[in-house]
Amino acid sequence: MRRIQAKNLGFSLVEIALVVVVIGILASIAVTRYTPLQKSAKRAACLSSQKSIEEAQKLFYSRVSLETGKGAYAETLDELAPFLKDDAVPVCPDGFAYELLPNGGVRCTSPDHQR
Ligand SMILES: [Zn+2]
Repeated sequence: MRRIQAKNLGFSLVEIALVVVVIGILASIAVTRYTPLQKSAKRAACLSSQKSIEEAQKLFYSRVSLETGKGAYAETLDELAPFLKDDAVPVCPDGFAYELLPNGGVRCTSPDHQR
């Protein structure tokens, strides 16, 4: 009787190995589905930031136009800060830089974040 109780105390090596394999399979499925979603979300956030910067460029152009009679776009992102939320220039979620275009547009230097 005592021998039977001692035998049922823990899991066998096969049971533990099976659990580890199942956890590994589930983790690999989760990672393969999560990574593209994360990439897609970062791209969407970057495109949204680019749109905000473009709107700030339009506001900057309007202000310069009212003050000087001749419109001009900002040449640096810092000039646009007063026209952006919380006076802060958004940053690319992947750490890439934004480039201001002469026509008032903006683009991210990441090849995945182009419109
Ligand atoms: Zn970006």
